[in-house]
Amino acid sequence: MSVTRNTKNVPYYLLGFGAFAQLGGLVQARRKAVQGPALFFIDHFFHNTEHLGTLPAESDDSVFFVDVSREPAVEYVDALADKSREALAGRAPCCIVGIGGGATLDVAKAVGNLLTNPGKAEDYQGWELVKNPAPYKIGVPTLFGTGAECSRTCVLTNQRRKLKLGMNSDFTMYDQLLLDPALSRTVPREQFFFTGMDTYMHCFESVRGSYRNVIVDHLSESALSLCREIFLGPEDMMSEANLERMAVASYLGGMAAGNVGVVHPISAGLSIVLHLPHGKANCYALSVLEEIYPEEYAAFTAMLSRHSIDLPKGICEKLTEEQYEALYAGSIVHEKPLTNALGPAFRDILTKERLIAKFKSM
Ligand code: NAD
Ligand code: ZN
Repeated sequence: MSVTRNTKNVPYYLLGFGAFAQLGGLVQARRKAVQGPALFFIDHFFHNTEHLGTLPAESDDSVFFVDVSREPAVEYVDALADKSREALAGRAPCCIVGIGGGATLDVAKAVGNLLTNPGKAEDYQGWELVKNPAPYKIGVPTLFGTGAECSRTCVLTNQRRKLKLGMNSDFTMYDQLLLDPALSRTVPREQFFFTGMDTYMHCFESVRGSYRNVIVDHLSESALSLCREIFLGPEDMMSEANLERMAVASYLGGMAAGNVGVVHPISAGLSIVLHLPHGKANCYALSVLEEIYPEEYAAFTAMLSRHSIDLPKGICEKLTEEQYEALYAGSIVHEKPLTNALGPAFRDILTKERLIAKFKSM
């Protein structure tokens, strides 16, 4: 096996029910290290609710509630970065705290990069484009599965350029994680399933691909086995033990994510054209990929039926020719994962006709 990329992991984590109570201590340590306010980016679900517990925010800090009703767009991140700069008034923040699902965690990561790098969010969509380290970031997931808490990217949509692409950089990563499974108790069941499935997809796409790394293989296998326990085991998928398993699976899967296969490109097409949320779009993608991933497809169908999750048919019926073209273009553009899964001749396997037929069968 060839030598792996020089790999960074998040240096610190706290894991366990009730870990959220330690956020105050973590932020306090940052206040001692850097004289400046803290910036909190919190999923809008927690606006006006007591579900979160006490937030260690002081009067000089800023709290932004992140609207995640749509996947984060570059313009939205630019606007939040402007507001953050205004609140900071020339000072450096002592830390940025992201609290929420994958979308909020990504927004906090993206704003962090923009506070130390000039220009706009879209200038950094790609690989290794971020030049200066971001401020210190603490990540607190409230919904587990994307692995956004430990990945080196933050996925942003860009309608103008018709793409969904992150700022892939070691600077995008969190410096500290607080993994408290209790925060996910309020997640609606269907959402828990769809986001949890993201770990399943990242990990099986990775082990089924040709770009391999032996550590990633082991992380993926562990996360897959946790997913099977959660979604096919005897307990309720949201039992306390399973909430913890999901937090661990998301973390391990996040460290393993990066080399996806056919599911994610098709999912990206669906998100760009139909604005389908990521986790659900992945599920629709796998629902038409039985030929490519027969074993995973079978397990996934069992999971769907075990939890009575419905994927109503017909989401791509009666679209315009232009929309079918856009679905195809938004998927086939992801050459790296498609090559990982199908080899360099992936266009001969996933021809335009075949891919559009797959969309029509969803
Ligand atoms: P999300 O962040 O979009 O949240 C989904 C819904 O769950 C929202 O309505 C939110 O308000 C709600 N929610 C979150 N926590 C809750 C809680 N504790 N109780 C009740 N409701 C809660 O969903 P997601 O699936 O976690 O994230 C999807 C996003 O993550 C997409 O934008 C996707 O592109 C991105 N993503 C990023 C990476 C990465 O490595 N950076 C990887 C995969 C996906
Ligand atoms: Zn994903």
